[in-house]
Amino acid sequence: MNPSFYVVAVDSPLKEALTYLPPEDGRVFERGQSVRVPLGSRKAYGVVMRQTQEAPPAVKLKAILEREDERPTIPEPYMDWLEWLAQYYVFPAGMIMETVFPPLGKESTRTSRKSPVVKDYETRSEPPPLTEEQRNVLRQLKEAPDFNVHLLFGVTGSGKTEVYMHLLEEVLARGKQGLVLVPEISLTPQLIDRFSKRFPGQVAVLHSHLTAREKTTQWWNMVDGKRKILIGARSALFCPLPDLDLIVLDEEHEPSYKQDEQLKYHARDAAIMLAKRLNIPIVLGSATPSLESWNNVQTGKYQLHEMTQRVNARAMPAIEVVDLRELHRQRKDTPSSLPFWLSDRLHEELVQIFDKKEQAALFLNRRGVAQTAQCHACGYVAECPNCSVSLTVHATSHLVCHYCDYSERLTEMCPDCKESPLEPLGLGTERVEKDMATLFPDIRIARADRDEVQSRDQLEKLVEDVETRNIDLLVGTQMIAKGLDFPHLNLVGLVLADVGFHWPDFRASERSFQLLTQVSGRSGRQSAGKVVIQTYDPEHASIRHTLGADFQGFAKAELEERSGLFYPPFWRMAMLRIQSNSKERGERTADLLVQRAHVLQRSFAAYGDGIHVLGPAEAPLFKLRNKFRYQVMLKCDSPARLNAFCRQLLADDSWIETGTKVQVDIDPFQML
Ligand code: ADP
Ligand code: ZN
Repeated sequence: MNPSFYVVAVDSPLKEALTYLPPEDGRVFERGQSVRVPLGSRKAYGVVMRQTQEAPPAVKLKAILEREDERPTIPEPYMDWLEWLAQYYVFPAGMIMETVFPPLGKESTRTSRKSPVVKDYETRSEPPPLTEEQRNVLRQLKEAPDFNVHLLFGVTGSGKTEVYMHLLEEVLARGKQGLVLVPEISLTPQLIDRFSKRFPGQVAVLHSHLTAREKTTQWWNMVDGKRKILIGARSALFCPLPDLDLIVLDEEHEPSYKQDEQLKYHARDAAIMLAKRLNIPIVLGSATPSLESWNNVQTGKYQLHEMTQRVNARAMPAIEVVDLRELHRQRKDTPSSLPFWLSDRLHEELVQIFDKKEQAALFLNRRGVAQTAQCHACGYVAECPNCSVSLTVHATSHLVCHYCDYSERLTEMCPDCKESPLEPLGLGTERVEKDMATLFPDIRIARADRDEVQSRDQLEKLVEDVETRNIDLLVGTQMIAKGLDFPHLNLVGLVLADVGFHWPDFRASERSFQLLTQVSGRSGRQSAGKVVIQTYDPEHASIRHTLGADFQGFAKAELEERSGLFYPPFWRMAMLRIQSNSKERGERTADLLVQRAHVLQRSFAAYGDGIHVLGPAEAPLFKLRNKFRYQVMLKCDSPARLNAFCRQLLADDSWIETGTKVQVDIDPFQML
C-alpha cells in the first residue's frame, strides 16, 4: 500500500516537520531522501522523516514537488543523530539537515582539477618506532573496538597524533573511513601535511576557509568513498560518511568546539552521540582535558589512557614565575630603562635566547597598543557607542571596538573636559611588539593576532616563517597558543598571565589553566625550553597547578568548587538570551520570560525538584552592536528534565514583541 502522507523536515525556521501529500506521479520516498516541497509561495529543500497514514486535522495539504536526486540519501545512523541534535539543542530539524549537504551541486566537482587543498604525495612516510607509552595506549584501545569514549590524556609532545595515525592505519586496513576533528586554528599545513604524507591520496579536508567548490569536492570525495580520512573543523562532523569506523577529536577541551550561533551544538558531545549510534570508538585527546570529560573519567563513563612523557624523553620546559607587584615595588626605588611590562628576568632570558640564535614567543591575550585610553584630568574613558565596552587603542592613533569594529580617531584632547590628552591605559600586543623592536633592533619580529593575521594564508605564511627561522620573535595572542609545533622555539614569555582570571564566567579558572599549560607547551619541543610567567597573582590556582604540571590537582580542586555551586559538569545549564532593539522591550520580555518560567517550574516540581531559574540579569556585555541583552540562566541536575523544560517554555513564542528575540543555548560556553 502506498503511504498516504510524508512528514518532511523543511529547511526553514519552523519548529516542527510538515506533512505533505505524495507527488502527483505517485513516486514513493524513503526516510533520509531529499525532496523539494512548496513552502508558502516558494520552494524549499526538505528531508523525508517518515511516512504516515494520518494527516494533521484542518490543514489543506500540498504535495511534494520532486525528488532531489543529486543529494544522496542520509544514512540511518546519521538521520537518527540529526533528530537527536534537533531535540537536544531545541533547533529546527530541517535547518540542521541542510547543513549536511555541500554548498554546490556535484557537477562543480567534475570541472575542478586536482584539489589543491590536500597535497598528494607519491610515497608514504614511514612511522617512527613507537614509544612504550604509545604502544600501551594502542593495545588498550584495540581491546575496546565498539562504542567507547576514550580520553587520551597526554602531555604536549607525548605523541598523541602518532597514536591517532596508527589507529587510522587499522581503519584503512579494514577498508573503512576515519574522521579527525581538530580546532579550526590547528588545521595548519603542518598538521595536514603530516597526515597526507602518512596516507598519500587518502586524505580530504573540510574547514570554513575553503571555497564553495573546494568544499563540495572534498565532501564528495568522502561520501563517494574515494578518500578515507577526513580531517576537519567541527562542521566536518556533518559530512555523512558511508563507512565511518573511528572518530578522533583532538584538543577536546577547546572552547571553539562549541558553536555559539544558529545550532549551538558542542562538537565533542555531538560526536560522542554519533559514535554511539554507529557503535564505533571515539578518541578524545588533550593535555588539559575539559572538566566535563575529566568528570566522566571519574564516574567511569570514559576510559582514561595516559601518556606522561614527552617523546624521546625531552624535558618539559622549566617554568618560572615573576611577581609583578614585587617588580613594581623595586622599580619605584630603582627605576629601570626597560618597558614597564618587561621584568628583568624575562629580559635576561630574551637576551640569552637571541644570543644563541634560538626563537622566542611573547604571549598576551590582548590586542592593540593599550587596553583603553583615559583622561587623567576628568577620568573620561572612551567607550563604544554601540557596545558597552571601552575602546582599545590601536597604532597610537585610533580607538577600536573589539566587538563591533567601530573605530574613531584618538583626539588630541579629552573630548569631555578638553583639558588633558587621553593617555593609554594598560597593554596590548602592538605595544609589546613596538617596545621589543626598540630594545632589540636586530631581531626579526612577527605579530600574530587578529589585527595582523586575518586570513588563513597569512597564518600559514607566518607558520612557515617561524619554521624556516625567518623570524626570531613571535608576539601574539592566544592564536599562537594552539597546537603549533616549532622545534627551535625555546622561550615562551607570558607577559600578563592574569588577563583571563576574572572573566565573569564559571570556566574562567579552567580556561586560564588550559591556556597557561598550552602556551607553556609551545616551548622546548626539541631541546630544553623555558617559560617565564609574569603575573600580579602568583598564588592563583591556575598558576600554581601549571607550575607543578598538576592537571589532576587542579581538576580536583576546581571540580569540588563547581559541585558546591551546582555548576556543570554536575548540574546542567541552559542560557536563555533575550536581545532587543529597545531597552524597555528587552527588559519587559526578560521579566515576562522569568514569570513564565516560574509558573512552569511549579508544574515541573511535581516530577521531582530541581529546576533553578536565575535572573533575569543584564548580560555582562549589556549592549552589543546596538542590541540590548539580558539573560536568564536555568540549572537542573537532569539534562532530560532541563531539555523538556526549555522546550515547553519556548513552545509558544507568540507573546514575544517585535524587534525582540529569545534564544536558548543548551550547555552554554559563552557567558558574555
Ligand atoms: P602531541 O600530539 O601529543 O603533541 P605529536 O604526536 O605531535 O605529539 O608528537 C610530538 C613530536 O614527536 C612530533 O614531531 C612527532 O613527529 C614526534 N614523534 C611522535 N611519536 C614519535 C616516536 N614514537 N618516535 C619519534 N618521534 C615521535
Ligand atoms: Zn562596539
